[in-house]
Amino acid sequence: MGSQASTLLREEEIEEIKKETGFSHSQITRLYSRFTSLDKCQNGTLSQEDLQSIPELAINPLGDRIISAFFAEGEDQVNFRGFTRTLAHFRPIEDNNERSNDPTAGEPINSRTNKLLFSFRLYDMDRDGRISRDELLQVLRMMVGTNILDEQLGSIVDRTIQEANWNGDNSISFDDFVKLLEDFDVEQKMSIRFLH
Ligand code: CA
Repeated sequence: MGSQASTLLREEEIEEIKKETGFSHSQITRLYSRFTSLDKCQNGTLSQEDLQSIPELAINPLGDRIISAFFAEGEDQVNFRGFTRTLAHFRPIEDNNERSNDPTAGEPINSRTNKLLFSFRLYDMDRDGRISRDELLQVLRMMVGTNILDEQLGSIVDRTIQEANWNGDNSISFDDFVKLLEDFDVEQKMSIRFLH
């Protein structure tokens, strides 16, 4: 089925995705056969439920948040193009060497800023551009499970917001977030080795 699926992807489409995401030709055909095997209705798009069957996401405490990042606002389906665009955030930055020689390429999806923006959106559940106290609390709760008491988690959240937020409105903007993670190795932490 995999080989049949890859023949359905047009060559010019592969070229466009390559340019947009930085994935190689063979990575794209590999991802396409993964995509089609997840596409249970065979309608060319994936639903939230389709993505939930990816084992790596099923065991990730933030799996549901990551899955929601695949969907544009108000959408409940993602096509192959959107699928690769989301995954491209996880490409290692050092894989950009070839791309940086192309002056028309623009800022790559896997730049430090775009990786940070992706993680920011995991926390910004209502997509209003700020992480509220409640959003931070909810996402941290997903990460730590029941090992930490509400009270402790609440004080971690308050401290983080205090540290991050210089204009004092009790929420974290993307600029605050960038400053907060200044010394954090997001390049390494947000990279997945995709098979070549
Ligand atoms: Ca928000």
